[in-house]
Amino acid sequence: MNFNIILEEILIKRSQQKKKTSPLNYKERLFVLTKSMLTYYEGRAEKKYRKGFIDISRIKCVEVVKNDDAIIPCQNKYPFQVIHDANTLYIFAPSAQSRDLWVKKLKEEIKNNNNIMIKYHPKFWADGSYQCCRQTEKLAPGCEKYNLFESGSIKKALPPAPETKKRRPPPPVPPEEEDNSEEIVIAMYDFQATEAHDLRLERGQEYIILEKNDVHWWRARDKNGWYCRNTNRSKAEQLLRIEDKEGGFMVRDSSQPGLYTVSLYTKFGGEGSSNFRHYHIKETTTSPKKYYLAEKHAFGSIPEIIEYHKHNAAGLVTRLRYPVSTKGKNAPTTAGFSYEKWEINPSELTFMRELGSGLFGVVRLGKWRAQYKVAIKAIREGAMCEEDFIEEAKVMMKLTHPKLVQLYGVCTQQKPMYIVTEFMERGCLLNFLRQKQGHFSRDMLLSMCQDVCEGMEYLERNSFIHRDLAARNCLVNEAGVVKVCDFGMARYVLDDQYTSSSGAKFPVKWCPPEVFNYSRFSSKSDVWSFGVLMWEVFTEGRMPFEKSTNYEVVTMVTRGHRLPRPKLASKYVYEVMLRCWQEKPEVRPSFEDLLRTIDELVECEETFGR
Ligand code: ADP
Repeated sequence: MNFNIILEEILIKRSQQKKKTSPLNYKERLFVLTKSMLTYYEGRAEKKYRKGFIDISRIKCVEVVKNDDAIIPCQNKYPFQVIHDANTLYIFAPSAQSRDLWVKKLKEEIKNNNNIMIKYHPKFWADGSYQCCRQTEKLAPGCEKYNLFESGSIKKALPPAPETKKRRPPPPVPPEEEDNSEEIVIAMYDFQATEAHDLRLERGQEYIILEKNDVHWWRARDKNGWYCRNTNRSKAEQLLRIEDKEGGFMVRDSSQPGLYTVSLYTKFGGEGSSNFRHYHIKETTTSPKKYYLAEKHAFGSIPEIIEYHKHNAAGLVTRLRYPVSTKGKNAPTTAGFSYEKWEINPSELTFMRELGSGLFGVVRLGKWRAQYKVAIKAIREGAMCEEDFIEEAKVMMKLTHPKLVQLYGVCTQQKPMYIVTEFMERGCLLNFLRQKQGHFSRDMLLSMCQDVCEGMEYLERNSFIHRDLAARNCLVNEAGVVKVCDFGMARYVLDDQYTSSSGAKFPVKWCPPEVFNYSRFSSKSDVWSFGVLMWEVFTEGRMPFEKSTNYEVVTMVTRGHRLPRPKLASKYVYEVMLRCWQEKPEVRPSFEDLLRTIDELVECEETFGR
């Protein structure tokens, strides 16, 4: 018996990402609550397979769902909700007592969390809106006050957590955007920045939380961030010139009242042209209004536009790389806590066992600040185009998704350079598949593909191309979750045998024709590679085109030959692979499409078995 278990019961869970609401989206799961995790498993206690888990510290709200008018399409009729990060999990208990107990116990466990919501939605999110307030944004602020202690039995006061409240974000977006609130926290203590990229906190001042994707560090900016209220064009140019940073930018009031301008600095504007560009933030004529710098990429608020163009120039002279503020150094590039800084002090790293080695060098398990397990890759001299990578690392660190191996930072002030990432206990997916051959059920294999697809869908959404997706570049953690690794890294390899499509190490067997012929990489070329990765997964780690040379593969694929159906792949799963391997990139599905199909397959295979 496990004494850490607080509650354990079979409940029903509604799938989180489903667009449609059909009975297929309601699953029986064994829910287990411990002090640190809420975990759900497929199957009974004797033979259970972990399907998902939520870290207790990330839970922001647990409450009964009011459902006076909603029909519940499963046999358990007592719903409650667990809100964590940007997700809401709806769980259905078999009785009112069971539900009350779960809500009570969960509330007890989260009572010390400092991210508890002020407002929440008392009713379901269904068919594209909240049934309580009809807001159509999934992340719309709650419409009813949330009271953690309402259900009675818990009387202890909240710890002195940062006070939170909701209000409109600075800079003031146009008035229609009232709903676009952000979380503001008030610093309880002064915090002196110890690192150049830390944000100094002043007691009593408000800060805007940008991301809470790490338990220990939140990304925040001070109230002004990149917004410079009373700054005209020439003042903006002066400030940007003083900073002299490629991609330095600020958002300021436009000379036309009510409008905003992004002023951007580039050192490489071209012979004879100015180093400055001033772009008006324009509005669409649609309802609700959207705002944009590049017409194709319109968003509901200015912060979203800025976030997008931090990663994508999309028509601007350069990306928005470095926020420049009238408040001096308060908002550096990373505008955040040390979590965001990419330079890690190597003296804070300790080295443990070797995990493996790859193109760039040896990877070791290590600890950061003697506490956090990390993987440290020591870059072999001459293996990487380091300068370009360091520039890109700043972008890569911002790519944060549960199915991507997180880049924590780099040590660039020494040789060899280190790249520090999330540690993945079970190592590389390819070896994992090979070592455990014969032990995987088909839905475990499908679930691995689903993990990778989720990570890739996130990259696609952020216009980030992987360029070398394969089972060898995915890693598996202790819980069996597969995450995508080494995204974009192919661009920094200095080995010609790897980078040239005729080189011996070039991953031809994972590449579509437009890549091995013309090096035309895109999210759609990643889709082809994903099809090959699915094939690797369903053959439990076989080498694609085992007996053929790279040259032969090019000829075969060009003539329309494709990998055969793996024995463990159902005809539907193989169909997904074939869709990824369509010759013309434009007719291949996107990762968004693929994820929808794979989610449906997971549902069907779970429900009907095989
Ligand atoms: P390279 O990018 O230099 O080719 P890899 O990323 O492929 O190197 O890493 C080499 C090996 O090191 C992997 O196959 C894996 O076994 C191990 N490894 C790499 N990163 C991690 C990590 N984050 N956690 C655990 N093991 C890792």
